[in-house]
Amino acid sequence: MLDNVVRRYRQGDASVDVLNGASATVEAGEVVALIAPSGAGKSTLLHVAGLLERPDGGEVWLDGRPTVGLGDDARTAIRRGRVGFVYQFHHLLPEFSALENVVMPQIIRGLAKAEARERAAELLTYLGLGARLSHRPAELSGGEQQRVAIARAVANAPRLLLADEPTGNLDPTTSAHVFQTLTTLARASGLAAIVATHNLDLAATLDRRITLRDGVLVDA
Ligand code: ADP
Ligand code: ADP
Repeated sequence: MLDNVVRRYRQGDASVDVLNGASATVEAGEVVALIAPSGAGKSTLLHVAGLLERPDGGEVWLDGRPTVGLGDDARTAIRRGRVGFVYQFHHLLPEFSALENVVMPQIIRGLAKAEARERAAELLTYLGLGARLSHRPAELSGGEQQRVAIARAVANAPRLLLADEPTGNLDPTTSAHVFQTLTTLARASGLAAIVATHNLDLAATLDRRITLRDGVLVDA
């Protein structure tokens, strides 16, 4: 999916190749841990893989097709349909219930409301939140909030899930549960996932570990 990707930032007069020939493939149903120190380029990698940023070199494949040469609109359409994002902080809409937060991206993609509600309820129930559908984010525990964020990220059935320190704000037990949720979901729906984390114990529970070294992805 990432083939020899280069991403360069200008910093003052200098330019830094944060990614300098990064390549990686994640299979359907596979959850890969991305482990690297702060500043190594994890967020950059996830943004390039998820078509939020364009690389300065190389190719990014999604759904079996190259994306770098596509226009912004086409890239946005692919991103909305095929990629889900989860961040360290859940970014749920505070005034809306768990259910509504998961309904929203489906409505934006044009699904009928009744259908979207049905799918959201099904998904949240599957993730163990069946009794929390009408709770607002502030009425949920940290782990529950993050599981709602995961449900929202996969509501439109993406093929790729990108998670940037999704448990950076959670205690170890809750974090383990969130990781388990990600793995269960990936297996069940053939979703490919990359999860950036600093937590080596949790990374050890995933299928595979990679790290960024001098802008290149290597097995960890
Ligand atoms: P990580 O997520 O691993 O902490 P990032 O991908 O956020 O790392 O950043 C990697 C490096 O690229 C850092 O040195 C950061 O300062 C630099 N960087 C990230 N985004 C930009 C940008 N938009 N402009 C300039 N430098 C950037
Ligand atoms: P945790 O130990 O996982 O952090 P909490 O102690 O925060 O969980 O919450 C325990 C349960 O109580 C959670 O399932 C959550 O849904 C519910 N809960 C927490 N705060 C509220 C609230 N303000 N209103 C309604 N339910 C809440």
